[in-house]
Amino acid sequence: MSLKLLENLNNYRFSKQDIDMLIWWIQTRKRNTWNYLNPLQYSVDCNINIETAIELFLTCTHYSDVKVFDVRSIAKCPNCDSIISTEENCIMITDLPKNCNECGLHIQPDFMDNFTDIIFKLIVDPFPPELTPTPPIGVSKQPATHLTSHKILRSDSKNVRTLAGRMRRLNGK
Ligand SMILES: [Zn+2]
Repeated sequence: MSLKLLENLNNYRFSKQDIDMLIWWIQTRKRNTWNYLNPLQYSVDCNINIETAIELFLTCTHYSDVKVFDVRSIAKCPNCDSIISTEENCIMITDLPKNCNECGLHIQPDFMDNFTDIIFKLIVDPFPPELTPTPPIGVSKQPATHLTSHKILRSDSKNVRTLAGRMRRLNGK
């Protein structure tokens, strides 16, 4: 499997520039970040609209003809920031402990989508490059904020919310 799959993104709603930027961005990530990719960093680095960035990553996770990512949810304690639960292949954790193991805080599930980070793992080898990456103009060095469940589930973009709904149903949630 390779990034060549991303040529199929033409079948979705994305512009050629957004797709080229994504390919360039993936191919320029350091190997030790491949398990921890954040669409908001892609948004900042390539000056891509946040909703489009999230939609691109979810699309490349959900649909098999463009699948280059897996997704993982990591819930952190709102009080002490320790990890209280992680779940693979989902964008919202439903199985949460009653209390934080570290500080004892009572966990209120309704609030937890604000404290659940969503990270993406690259599951194809980006090398050797099979597509010529287009270097983006005005690459930023700014670190992005974390992508949370909340930002996906309460997205301003109907496309993102629809995709999120589809992913949750497949997970039986
Ligand atoms: Zn805690």
